[in-house]
Amino acid sequence: MATLRLEVVTPARTVIATEAESVTVPGVEGRLGFLPGHAPIVAGLTIGVLEYGPAHGSKQRMAVSGGFVEVADNKVSVLADAAELASEIDVARAMAAKERAERRLRERAANIDRARAEAALARALNRLRVANGR
Ligand code: ATP
Repeated sequence: MATLRLEVVTPARTVIATEAESVTVPGVEGRLGFLPGHAPIVAGLTIGVLEYGPAHGSKQRMAVSGGFVEVADNKVSVLADAAELASEIDVARAMAAKERAERRLRERAANIDRARAEAALARALNRLRVANGR
């Protein structure tokens, strides 16, 4: 079967560069799925799960924290703010980030940037979901 070239890059590193028969990403307006031969597209990404692998069969999962995807010529390029494979996620760190964000949201202090705390909470919950295979 034809494949897609998938590259996931963050400001820190290339997270993966691999071949896949199918890729799904968390688009800002909903999940986007790509198979070989997909029309060219550029779309924004939200915090969520990227999956890739064989068209039928078990997929690899990755936590993505927003960014962009570009598809062209059977290449899927993801430029993400941050991205981690399930196996790379530090669960204790994500738990600590979750509790920190929840505490800030609970305190409702005037000097708290709510949107920032909500985004930190969403990143932490997403990492925990991916690390736990959910
Ligand atoms: P924290 O408050 O724990 O730093 P964060 O959501 O603010 O979490 P980001 O700014 O999204 O962190 O990411 C900074 C870098 O740390 C990125 O390279 C990201 O991949 C990595 N990273 C963040 N949290 C984890 C985690 N739980 N496990 C592995 N890598 C992580």
